[in-house]
Amino acid sequence: MKMKARRCQITLGLLSFFVLLVGSTGALSQNRLNISEVKEGLHVITGPGGNIGVRLTSEGVILIDDKFPQDFQEIRSLVAEVTDLPVRYVINTHHHGDHSGSNAGFLQIAEVITHKNARENMVRGNQDGLPRLIYSDETSVFLGGVEVRVFYMGRGHTNGDSVVYFPDLKTVHGGDLLHGIAPFIDYANGGSSRGWVGTVNNILSLDFDTAIPGHGDIMDRRGVLNFRNQMEAVRQRMMTLIRGGLNAVDAPSRIVDSNLSWTQVEDGLFMQRSILGFFDEISVEIQ
Ligand SMILES: [Zn+2]
Repeated sequence: MKMKARRCQITLGLLSFFVLLVGSTGALSQNRLNISEVKEGLHVITGPGGNIGVRLTSEGVILIDDKFPQDFQEIRSLVAEVTDLPVRYVINTHHHGDHSGSNAGFLQIAEVITHKNARENMVRGNQDGLPRLIYSDETSVFLGGVEVRVFYMGRGHTNGDSVVYFPDLKTVHGGDLLHGIAPFIDYANGGSSRGWVGTVNNILSLDFDTAIPGHGDIMDRRGVLNFRNQMEAVRQRMMTLIRGGLNAVDAPSRIVDSNLSWTQVEDGLFMQRSILGFFDEISVEIQ
């Protein structure tokens, strides 16, 4: 009996070794992405790149964002796990390549829609897969009895961010206007921290209880409120420092505050990529 138990343990050990092996090589080649349900009729595809919203209707699928170029086939396979119907529309929340990278693939089978400023940013950046449809203030896609509303609510992450609203599900997809960690403010493409606060306030004027951020975990209303509050707090801190005589060169170190996670390097792109533009923005604002 003892021997048998021991052998069983070894077999189990070997088995878990192989499961680990298969699991890890699988993670390297395929299965980089995952699909999960947010609410009935709405899924999210997570993994490297921006979170994709997958809105199912009886006449096809509306995707919100499409990650990187190499993800095109895997996105299609994951969508096929939850519906037999094709992708009919893709809405790009903004121009960044981790949100619009598979456009060239999807343009062969679907219409791609984005804000006019986002398309201009794509043209300037020589990006592939330019959307055939643009809008200025607001547009909607009606498909299979479902309405998906798309709003331009002001500057923020860039000058062309779309907020996608699913009124029947009380859910928004905020693109990179909403982030699980400290966000990047793309000043080269019209980003603005001041605009961002107002834009998040506009998002909060919608009737929603669930929000898909561009990166990070699903949020509730409170999470969106916290995001806005931290943006205001970081802006306030920079104003105080500049009024106290802060130089641009010292901004990355002096902005750090133990109460504000965004000001800590490990919390994302804010410190590395946005801080000097942020310094300039606030300097001009308080002149
Ligand atoms: Zn982005």
